[in-house]
Amino acid sequence: MDNRTSVLLVDDVSFNVQMLAELLKDDYQILEASSGKACLELLEKNRSVDLILLDVEMPEMDGYEVCRCLQREEKTRNIPVIFVTARDNEEDEEKGLKLGAVDYIRKPFSPAIVEARVKTQITLKQQCDQLQRLAMHDQLTGLYNRHYLIDTAARKIARALRHKQGLSLIIIDIDHFKLINDQYGHCGGDAVLRDIAATLLELSRTEDIVSRVGGEEFVILLEHCDIKSAENKAELMREAIELRKPQGISVTASFGVTELSVNGEGFIKFLDRSDSALYQAKNKGRNRVEIIEVNE
Ligand code: GH3
Ligand code: MG
Ligand code: MG
Ligand code: MG
Repeated sequence: MDNRTSVLLVDDVSFNVQMLAELLKDDYQILEASSGKACLELLEKNRSVDLILLDVEMPEMDGYEVCRCLQREEKTRNIPVIFVTARDNEEDEEKGLKLGAVDYIRKPFSPAIVEARVKTQITLKQQCDQLQRLAMHDQLTGLYNRHYLIDTAARKIARALRHKQGLSLIIIDIDHFKLINDQYGHCGGDAVLRDIAATLLELSRTEDIVSRVGGEEFVILLEHCDIKSAENKAELMREAIELRKPQGISVTASFGVTELSVNGEGFIKFLDRSDSALYQAKNKGRNRVEIIEVNE
């Protein structure tokens, strides 16, 4: 598979596509679409695209309309678009930029200028993606961070209530972690945290939000999951952590599990309930899973 940065060329005239492809193919993976509809379909199929060079004048759906559609969808909103067009009046350029395009290239174009402008936008996109990754993730473990969890939870709660689907939450706290730090040093402790994070990820589905929310605390948000399934998952994780002995160190963790109230509630209340379950797990001797049903 080609993992290079990808540029999508959209133009109804195949000669134009070929010319741009020839120019950019050594540096980028090139994807092509011969209409606005084909462009949207390609993006719909989850192809990751880093930049779109978009023709304005195309039959059926013009470039402006395509740009509007891209802006409407969360998945495509952040893909930079450069219009490449034979229209050379300022109003058209202004219109394109107001629709959210990052640049506007007039045909006939100079190859060197296209290359330079594409490179600039790709660099900006990569920097932006990198910042976004850093803002969403915990640096030590690579898991999502508290900020991302809170952001995402509101959306997941709304969706679960709207579609009447189960949403469960597991909170995990490592047992006597202070002793591990005392005995093996902070670096040893950090290695344990990374290892436990990896264990949690291995046992989660890709759509689960696995996050590190504090020093040695983790929260997992599980969509389409009732409390029973979440309890089973937590039990698997508890067992896996106990058996894993990261860095040869015996580690256990306690788990609190709960499910979102079907009557609706905010994330804080939802999280508080799982925290109460965790508190019970600690009080009952640690290295165990406790659940709290919504109406208890
Ligand atoms: P309990 O079983 O009751 O949860 O006991 P505990 O010792 O795990 O709980 P406590 O909250 O007292 O201690 C958590 C420790 O986690 C204290 C802190 O030094 C350590 N810690 C917090 N963040 C980090 C980190 O990023 N790396 C390492 N190595 N240790 C951390
Ligand atoms: Mg055209
Ligand atoms: Mg703790
Ligand atoms: Mg702890």
